[in-house]
Amino acid sequence: MRAMVLDSPGKSLRAAEVSVPEPGPEEVLLRVHACAVCRTDLHVVDGELPGPKLPLIPGHQIVGTVGRVGGRVEDFAVGDRVGVPWLGHTDDTCRYCLTGRENLCDDARFTGYQIDGGYAEYASADHRFCFPIPEGYPDLQAAPLLCAGLIGYRSLRATGDAERLGLYGFGAAAHIIAQVAVYQDREVFAFTRDGDEEAKGFARQLGAAWAGDSSQNPPEELDAAIIFAPVGALVPAALRAVAKGGVVVCAGIHMSDIPSFPYEILWGERVVRSVANLTRRDGEEFLVLAPEVPVHTEVVSYPLEEANEALDALRGGRIRGAAVLVVD
Ligand SMILES: [Zn+2]
Ligand SMILES: [Zn+2]
Repeated sequence: MRAMVLDSPGKSLRAAEVSVPEPGPEEVLLRVHACAVCRTDLHVVDGELPGPKLPLIPGHQIVGTVGRVGGRVEDFAVGDRVGVPWLGHTDDTCRYCLTGRENLCDDARFTGYQIDGGYAEYASADHRFCFPIPEGYPDLQAAPLLCAGLIGYRSLRATGDAERLGLYGFGAAAHIIAQVAVYQDREVFAFTRDGDEEAKGFARQLGAAWAGDSSQNPPEELDAAIIFAPVGALVPAALRAVAKGGVVVCAGIHMSDIPSFPYEILWGERVVRSVANLTRRDGEEFLVLAPEVPVHTEVVSYPLEEANEALDALRGGRIRGAAVLVVD
């Protein structure tokens, strides 16, 4: 099969012919239709996350059709359209798994990181971590729901019932979560790269009450902010923008160092927290909610062989919405 392979971090992906994976007893083999490109893929390829499987097929927002099932798979059948997210394995026995926090599992493994992912014609995945794709979503539009949507949703939940919500970094996740937040009658304040007028227009089009540069203060105090951009300097900026009791959620897996800041901007019971990975429950909830909103994902598509170009465009902030690799 055709695949885009990472041989070592810091190098471009290599187009290769590799063998189709053999599904284990708990796995489904998928014919991949589309795989969305996540900023985490970029962190893996750039060597900002330690210890990836090598060689590695990246990609953890996979939409495909089941072609074969392992002997112990009963919930999916050949022909079903399923999605594969970032969380690919947990031990089900550690104290995190046993308390509903499998996203923090000590022995978790992740798709497109420790498990080969979806930048390929076929992928195998543990059926217990796959989701049925809601009907009515084309493959390309569904793919970004699987990480940008899921992690974004988990981050949104971490803001509680905040009414005035800031979103820092208006990329794949923010463009989905802005729609959910507006649907929930929250007021969205979108912060983009300084001077990125197109992103501001896009945010307003999706219902943001205000859109401005990340270096700007919003016109009113926020109740919460989610930082999607991997920029540590946004943490003190967001703390300054939230009201007393407000929460600042760091949604990314990697961030540049956070500069020191005066205690007074944390004082007043403001909270800084991160969101890590997803639970299967997040996925089940979000994939019910997305068609109710309904979330429309805006995608920029690339053929599989142009995965490096897609990653470059993401690195340069040139993607409006989400980048998706089209495999067949
Ligand atoms: Zn565990
Ligand atoms: Zn991701």
